[in-house]
Amino acid sequence: MPESEIICVICPVGCKVLVRHKDAEIVSVSGSECARGDEYAAKECLSPERILTATVAVDGGELARLPVKTDRRIRKDQLLICARELSRARMRAPVALGDVVVADILGTGANVIATRPVQRAAAGAAA
Ligand code: SF4
Repeated sequence: MPESEIICVICPVGCKVLVRHKDAEIVSVSGSECARGDEYAAKECLSPERILTATVAVDGGELARLPVKTDRRIRKDQLLICARELSRARMRAPVALGDVVVADILGTGANVIATRPVQRAAAGAAA
């Protein structure tokens, strides 16, 4: 029966959680110090999710690139295709912290948002 050892990252303790699974079913979870770790490890084993972070081009800003991230985790196997989609996005300064860059990227339910503001470039200094 397949086993996966997952390091729980929910808190700094970093428990090693052993998940035994068969096909798409969890058979047992052991080694965690709390129920949050069981839940995290089971999900990480069967359907891992991550926050996507990237940068997108910004026109007329004090910076040439705008740091962005998804406002929720998306399936790990969707990261690459979402990153490719995001590579086509462009913003125009000014951009505020939290502005939506791409809404519901590829139907994942996650919005891509700006993680910092970008002001307009000073006259004659556009990026
Ligand atoms: S299982 Fe619980 S105690 Fe252990 S790292 Fe995860 S959240 Fe922390």
